[in-house]
Amino acid sequence: MQLPLPKHINVQKITEAVLPAKDVDGFHPVNSGKMLQNIPCYLPATPYGIMLLLERYKIETSGKHCVVLGRSNIVGLPVSILLERNSNPGNCTVTVCHSKTKNIEEIAHRADILIAAIGQPEFVTAAMVKNGAVVIDVGITRIKSLETKSGFRLVGDVIFDDVAPKCSYITPVPGGVGPMTITALLKNTLAASKKGIYQ
Ligand code: NAP
Repeated sequence: MQLPLPKHINVQKITEAVLPAKDVDGFHPVNSGKMLQNIPCYLPATPYGIMLLLERYKIETSGKHCVVLGRSNIVGLPVSILLERNSNPGNCTVTVCHSKTKNIEEIAHRADILIAAIGQPEFVTAAMVKNGAVVIDVGITRIKSLETKSGFRLVGDVIFDDVAPKCSYITPVPGGVGPMTITALLKNTLAASKKGIYQ
């Protein structure tokens, strides 16, 4: 299933029609529930890709303050759960922000690891980021551009050039979380094609 679905289709109904053992997107409530309880399951691709990224670059997460901007079912909420779980990567103290959060700039500035997943182009400025922070930019928005052949360019939730000098690590858009999402989805698909992820 490829989201988003046309408006007349009930997303929940379709999501639950997928057999959990074949749910490589990790969207079925059975897989969400297992993720919550740290039981082996298909993890949603974007959060899983972020965890692979943190692991590969050996980024210390234990005891760190992670601020997640966004609380969607496919990115913000699951990545906040994965980062606070008792595992490695994990063991963060997590703060989740959303559209009703007050003082978001101040909260973001307290992050050791800042994950931006709100779909608001160039929302995160250097003033919102602590020196040495790890910044993971999930947002992808297509905006009009006179500088490209296609007439469009892809923009993240973070002003990369402004923020990068303050960071220990930062992911670009495009070429950061996007390819990791594909990798994670393929890992799930490979696992499903073999024995499956359930023990
Ligand atoms: P979504 O379902 O629209 O959720 C956006 C979240 O951001 C919501 O929780 C919303 O709060 C919050 N938000 C929106 N504006 C905000 C603001 N000004 N201040 C604080 N919080 C705000 O989006 P999504 O599906 O999670 O995707 C987020 C972004 O990531 C999009 O740009 C999407 O294209 C991108 N994305 C990239 C990948 C990848 O592979 N790189 C994968 C998935 C998504 P409320 O809950 O209060 O409405």
